[in-house]
Amino acid sequence: MPHYHPDIDFLTAHVAGTLPLAQSACVAAHLNYCHECRRTVSGLQEVGAALFERVAPEVVSEQLLDMTLARLDEEPPLHFARQQAAGEKTPAILQRLMNGDFADLVWKKVTRKLAISYLRTGDPGHEFALYHIRAGGRIPLHDHCGDEITLVLQGGFSDADGDYHAGDFLFRRSGEEHAPTALQSEDCICLGVLDAPLRFRGWAHRWMNPFVQLRPG
Ligand SMILES: [Zn+2]
Repeated sequence: MPHYHPDIDFLTAHVAGTLPLAQSACVAAHLNYCHECRRTVSGLQEVGAALFERVAPEVVSEQLLDMTLARLDEEPPLHFARQQAAGEKTPAILQRLMNGDFADLVWKKVTRKLAISYLRTGDPGHEFALYHIRAGGRIPLHDHCGDEITLVLQGGFSDADGDYHAGDFLFRRSGEEHAPTALQSEDCICLGVLDAPLRFRGWAHRWMNPFVQLRPG
């Protein structure tokens, strides 16, 4: 069971469909691991449905009615099977975005301990990438020009604030600084969603900054 969750504003925006696509995919992936948030989400959906029923009906044109009825005959929407047990498998939404599994991706080596793979979500405002940190490896100290969501998928990492394991969802605001280190016992794979590039702080890695650009997808 994860210890770090999206807050109620995130879950509400996810249910209402107002969260940017890349962030919403990250929340959906967290739900695969988290019974507690799934329960909150289904409560919010019920609230949404109840509010919808109280909306006063409006007269619609015949053309709109035809279009609506025609849509009912279309293919059913994609359906993602819910995971059997938390942390057992890669979240379905990610499997779909990856077109396979972690091994099928192109990993770009950033340092000896860190490789990144960028995925396409169709969200023009956010970068959506997987980070593979070798056991004990460290992501150089950095801060953010924008917000960052991190979801741990395998293994775990720690920073000055705590330890994080599979399913944990972390949200960092612009300007917060941290240097995550993978746990010593195993490699860590996590998902990162950014709306602006990272800025590396330590003198040894500052040279990387001109090369770090946001890759929205
Ligand atoms: Zn949760």
